Amino acid sequence: MDKIVILGGGESGVGSAILAKAKGFEVFLSDSGTLQDRYKAELDRHNIKYEEKGHTEEVILSATEIIKSPGIPNYVSLVRKAKDMGIPILSEMEFAKRYTSAKMICITGSNGKTTTTSLIYHILKSAGLNVGLGGNIGRSFARQVAEENYDYYVLELSSFQLENMYSFKADIAILLNITPDHLDRYDHDMQKYVDAKMRIVQNQTEEDAFIFWEDDPIVSKELDKLVSSGKQYSFAEYKEDNTSAYLEDNEIIINTPKSVFVMEQDLLALEGTHNLYNSLASGIAAKLLDITDDNLRQSLSDFQGVEHRLEKVARVRGIQFVNDSKATNVNSCWYALKSMKTKIVLILGGTDKGNDYTEIESLVLEKVRALVFLGVDNSKLHQFFDGKVEKIEDTSSMKDAVEKAYALAEEGDTVLLSPCCASFDLFKNYEDRGDQFKECVRKL
Ligand code: ADP
Repeated sequence: MDKIVILGGGESGVGSAILAKAKGFEVFLSDSGTLQDRYKAELDRHNIKYEEKGHTEEVILSATEIIKSPGIPNYVSLVRKAKDMGIPILSEMEFAKRYTSAKMICITGSNGKTTTTSLIYHILKSAGLNVGLGGNIGRSFARQVAEENYDYYVLELSSFQLENMYSFKADIAILLNITPDHLDRYDHDMQKYVDAKMRIVQNQTEEDAFIFWEDDPIVSKELDKLVSSGKQYSFAEYKEDNTSAYLEDNEIIINTPKSVFVMEQDLLALEGTHNLYNSLASGIAAKLLDITDDNLRQSLSDFQGVEHRLEKVARVRGIQFVNDSKATNVNSCWYALKSMKTKIVLILGGTDKGNDYTEIESLVLEKVRALVFLGVDNSKLHQFFDGKVEKIEDTSSMKDAVEKAYALAEEGDTVLLSPCCASFDLFKNYEDRGDQFKECVRKL
């Protein structure tokens, strides 16, 4: 019997294990850390063998195929050994796609994935389609393939997932943007990260669609190299010759082969230029799937947004607090700063992923009243910003950061948590960081 070994026992790994078992494979799941109790109970219920707190190499290397969770880097010695032995290493998506013929709408990019994926899901679901939401969000895709029978999936794909996808094909592929991120996992080689992202169009034919941001310099360069992709649809703030979706006289226009959709920009639920892009990309996908104008208009205007992304928390004595904890790279902070209309006290810092702060320098100089560094090691931030911004404070707890930011802010200002960094030095994850921020703000 073919043996599937799963590395990593989070939602993605456990979902894969359940699907593999349902398809009749011998299944073994291995995690170097501890498994959550609810996952252990589930594995037991499905009679799936597993280990935690370490990997038994000989068992793993006897696999026919390995499904690797996206959190495990390729340079880990066990993964390298398996690769050297010629054992195929797949992502959950590659594996699960074998067992569904649903239409795939896949979203990647350095920023905006979760927002756009959630928005497209909201549009399709509200229009009454039988649709699942997966990838980096919520219940794993593999688990849903095992347990549900959806006609469509909207999947958020990270570069790590794309790296281990080979015969997978997206019916509609969306590439929002490419800016430096996760370079620590790509040998600090930007091209490797770009190559992983560009896999979103792999195996596409003219029958499929490829939606991308026309003004992205990196994507533009990659377009020239493309051997094949789906039919191309681009979005941009301003129309050029071939732009499919854009802004004109305060209206968004979505021009696809079968229709031209027009809607006032003011009615869009999501604010800011970056979110205009997310709405345009979602609108193209929706029209390609024949969502009616009325349904699309309704969903683009009543979407609730996603927590921890430019989330307004509270106004305290005339100071607005905004939680953008999900801004774990410099580019997303740039958009946050750009969308603010007031002076800002910016809280940033955390685990550096090879950041270059030059990108936000001019916006910081223009809009930021004070900086509050929040991290175990703030030295890189000091190196860059010392002498450029007059008021800088060091903190190493959220409580301290919020209190210092509050003290530095003046009436009418915004205190913005948009950290540019991962959160793992002081927090469990970005959600924990955002939750603590909100709690501290509410206690002021
Ligand atoms: P991802 O899932 O790619 O990390 P999110 O939707 O969670 O993206 O948003 C992450 C951060 O990026 C947030 O701070 C958000 O405000 C910002 N952001 C959202 N959409 C875009 C975009 N199209 N371009 C740049 N930044 C964006």
